[in-house]
Amino acid sequence: MKLRGMDIYKFLPKTDCKKCGYVTCLSFAMKVAAGSVAIDKCPEIPAHALAELEESQIIEQPAAAPPPPPPLAAGPAFFCGNCGQKIESGAKFCGSCGSPVGNK
Ligand code: SF4
Ligand SMILES: [Zn+2]
Repeated sequence: MKLRGMDIYKFLPKTDCKKCGYVTCLSFAMKVAAGSVAIDKCPEIPAHALAELEESQIIEQPAAAPPPPPPLAAGPAFFCGNCGQKIESGAKFCGSCGSPVGNK
């Protein structure tokens, strides 16, 4: 899941103490979301929140393999709109009645 500023902001103390170098916790969160600053630049973030963030993998974006693409499904069986016979995928005309295939 993509890093989102609001997800990070939820875990911040929201005290706008500026110790991280940003004026507000929210702007800090947005920068973390953008990947331009590390979450641990906030000294005020509670340890349990940090652990939770890391656990939820909002922070860590390991170079995980992308999910495999869905297998190319074989064309669904379809049936002639005219006579109702099954039509082989790829066929242009119904083998039974000769109606053109292509109900799009
Ligand atoms: S150091 Fe943490 S608590 Fe302080 S302003 Fe930055 S994000 Fe907020
Ligand atoms: Zn037909």
